[in-house]
Amino acid sequence: MQQQQQQHGQVDSFKKDREEWSDTAICALLDAYTEKFLQLNKGNLRGKHWQEVSNMVSMRCQGQKSMKTIEQCKNKVDSLKKRHKVERTRMENTGSTTSQWPWFSKVEQIVGSAPKLSVLLEDDTSMVIKPDKQKGAMRQRRPNCSLGFHTKTKILQPRWQRVLLKVSGDALAGDRVQNVDQKITLLVAKEVASAMRLGVEVAVVVGGGNFFRGANWVGTSGLDRASADHIGMMATMMNAVILQASFESVGIKARIQTSYTMTQVAEPFSSKKAIRHLEKGRVVIFGGGTGNPYFTTDTAAAIRAAELKAEIILKAANIDGVFDCDSNFLEHVSFRELAMKGLSALDAEAMSHCERHNIPVMLFNISEPGNVVKALTGERVGTLIDQTGKFV
Ligand code: UDP
Repeated sequence: MQQQQQQHGQVDSFKKDREEWSDTAICALLDAYTEKFLQLNKGNLRGKHWQEVSNMVSMRCQGQKSMKTIEQCKNKVDSLKKRHKVERTRMENTGSTTSQWPWFSKVEQIVGSAPKLSVLLEDDTSMVIKPDKQKGAMRQRRPNCSLGFHTKTKILQPRWQRVLLKVSGDALAGDRVQNVDQKITLLVAKEVASAMRLGVEVAVVVGGGNFFRGANWVGTSGLDRASADHIGMMATMMNAVILQASFESVGIKARIQTSYTMTQVAEPFSSKKAIRHLEKGRVVIFGGGTGNPYFTTDTAAAIRAAELKAEIILKAANIDGVFDCDSNFLEHVSFRELAMKGLSALDAEAMSHCERHNIPVMLFNISEPGNVVKALTGERVGTLIDQTGKFV
């Protein structure tokens, strides 16, 4: 009886909760809280931070009945965290990777896998992978992988099994003191290592714009477009060699493949061999673009993703994602809508290839620590572009 009363009480409090907090208000609260939380390096918010959160929520909810006090914001964050915990347990028990609860991914950023993953980044050696004894494809053995932590054993299920990471040359240039910023290459290597330890297979297509972009040089010193593009393709090879070294410096085996023959540093491209490398837990770096002038490494990424049956292209750039012409950030948008707005995340050829072959694309900022590993494991960072443009 007492239990029943408690349950009724809970239901009533959920109802009350819903009445008091509109979706706009919850969204504003989570945005404001997450922003502060990240600014504080995932530390606890103090009085003045809560005051700012409450101000931000009230500001975004102007015109709605109630303003939100610090106390209300704190209580709401607590109740959202509790609700998230229930949802996570349900997902773990049912083996589900998606949630119908609309706030799941936002709250996940605060209490979910993100902090755990960043811990892994700082101390990769604390994580032990125990693959099963079975030889053969990673796709078959992944469900049997268990991740052991020193403290407690937790199985984290990344969303993707195989991804194609497109790293543009500009992104590698970082603060541009030199063409390549080693902070960025190391960051990429460490975060790819963390994702791979969770079982994600990672293929990389690297650009070369930080060194040379063919189109910009046509006419200079008598260069025609094709010759300029050949130099551009060689530039991508320089980045490929640098990235390979960075991966190896953090203990990842990496192979370079190219359609632009350079046998001293790279294997010739072979999709079958590339897949074998991935299955054996190696990163494959594709340099040399498509091997043809007049193309870009975005197009190479789209083609390789289809050949390798990668589930998504993750484009690491030095921007946060796609903004529309009114400076609104687009979190999730369809290929069609993006094209209609005259916007893009990859070059036009690459985009239409991805749309035709139903390969989603996520554009995100590489220089934000944690973003690469989040993207690789399936957290939403930046802008997601796919067929529907609708959250599922
Ligand atoms: N490139 C090419 N064919 C390809 C890929 C690249 O000719 O299939 C040349 C082209 O000149 C391009 C340069 O390589 O400007 C660097 O590639 P990209 O511009 O795609 O690099 P990113 O912008 O990703 O740094």
